Amino acid sequence: MKERLDKYIASQTSLSRKEAQRAIREKRVTLNGEIVRSPDVKADPDADTVALDGKALSYKQYVYYMMNKPQGVVSATEDKLERTVLDILPAEYRRDGLFPAGRLDKDTTGLLILTDDGDYAHRMLSPKKHVTKRYIATLDKTPGEEISARFEEGIVLGDGTVCKSGQARILDHNRVEVVISEGKYHQVKRMFAALGYHVTALERIQIGALALDRSLADGQTREMTENEAQTVF
Ligand code: URA
Repeated sequence: MKERLDKYIASQTSLSRKEAQRAIREKRVTLNGEIVRSPDVKADPDADTVALDGKALSYKQYVYYMMNKPQGVVSATEDKLERTVLDILPAEYRRDGLFPAGRLDKDTTGLLILTDDGDYAHRMLSPKKHVTKRYIATLDKTPGEEISARFEEGIVLGDGTVCKSGQARILDHNRVEVVISEGKYHQVKRMFAALGYHVTALERIQIGALALDRSLADGQTREMTENEAQTVF
């Protein structure tokens, strides 16, 4: 389907719609080799070649990014007070309509997916899909062996909410690997709180079959192929 060029450019580059209009006015945009003179001109992503500053844009309908979320940023598109995961994205990754698919707490680190594909995020977050999430929780004290059975049978949170069966595997004196298939607010912290433990650090390491890429430093992001992104299902 044809799209207005300012919208097209804003969706494919880090330029905002206004900046795209300015670029067009400044004759920095070509459509099939011809300089474009108005943002009203439309382009067909499947047939036309749009270039900005002489560089052809390779059209992608959607993008899928993997971020190794650092501590201290919120999983939101904007926030009046806090830095968001979008604020720390490198400029070349910015696009219109990008958002975090799911949330990690401000102090939680690890695997976060950012996309502009609403259907993908919806499917990933749907309770019906039972997409599993794997975390490493660091606790304030050494857990007892009984925690595995408690996760398996379904933990009852402080407010009476019953969690689905999950898994907990003790890694060392204060770290536990946890697998859950729900995404309730502060779920892992509240599950441990119900068992008498405080979570002092939490890292998400996997969603479905998609593991956090350990070559990503804290706060770093890389693009995924659509196939890689689909491995969450
Ligand atoms: N569970 C939590 O308690 N916090 C997160 O960020 C994710 C899962």
